[in-house]
Amino acid sequence: MSEKFIGAHVSAAGGVENAPGNAHKIGATAFALFTKKQRQWQAKPLSQTSIDAFKKNCEKYGYKPEQILPHDSYLINLGHPEADALQKSRDAFLDEMQRCEQLGLDRLNFHPGSHLKKVSEDECLATIAHSINLTLEKTTGVIAVIENTAGQGTNLGFSFYQLKKIIDQVEDKTRVGVCIDTAHAYSAGYDLKTEAGFEQVFAEFDEVVGFSFLKGMHLNDSKKEFGSRVDRHDSLGKGTIGIEVFERIMRDDRFNGIPLILETPNENLWADEIERLKSMQK
Ligand SMILES: [Zn+2]
Ligand SMILES: [Zn+2]
Repeated sequence: MSEKFIGAHVSAAGGVENAPGNAHKIGATAFALFTKKQRQWQAKPLSQTSIDAFKKNCEKYGYKPEQILPHDSYLINLGHPEADALQKSRDAFLDEMQRCEQLGLDRLNFHPGSHLKKVSEDECLATIAHSINLTLEKTTGVIAVIENTAGQGTNLGFSFYQLKKIIDQVEDKTRVGVCIDTAHAYSAGYDLKTEAGFEQVFAEFDEVVGFSFLKGMHLNDSKKEFGSRVDRHDSLGKGTIGIEVFERIMRDDRFNGIPLILETPNENLWADEIERLKSMQK
């Protein structure tokens, strides 16, 4: 039987090989990590020692690829309206995908991109899809996992229809997926808070995108009001969404078998949050 994989975006300070141990320490059965510093363009290639140690530690602590959701750098904009900047982002994204390949990972989570008020939404979504196609051609085995956004600034991917528009233009549908961030969805105007709202939102998600594309979830409460379009995470039960949405997710088999990742602001609470989420399962 499929089960729930629950964890947090843990530190990879000192090397990616440290992430599995950091996840194990907080009782996680899933984890996210950056495979390079998230606010820098350049990164040293992963050393063979580091790659081997990462794989060994994943095996030691029982983490398989479907329990791990690496996140790319925040600097990358695969929908950038200017040619030079777009190329820089595509090069960096390819490097991120190749790092996942080297680590034996099967998915990479990223924010789709921003139009910067220079091109239309549709044009930007087409550019993002083209960026994904170019990267998939040069790599194997890693799924490009598009995260829904809060719609802050000119970030796209805040509606399920935008996610679908990107997926529709990706040639290899077996290597594209989505990650739904609860805080981003709520800020973008998806009312997950009530039981009826939750059912409606995920029925719409299934109809527009489809659960077969769901390759991960980010479990975050929000500091901002419903529909604010502002991206500020809060600890579970401490924000504007409240704890019930997480209880619903934990009791719902549609969220089995994928990494469910906390990106909540107080990492001292992660062990407790994971324990609490585990206890909510039916
Ligand atoms: Zn993200
Ligand atoms: Zn997220």
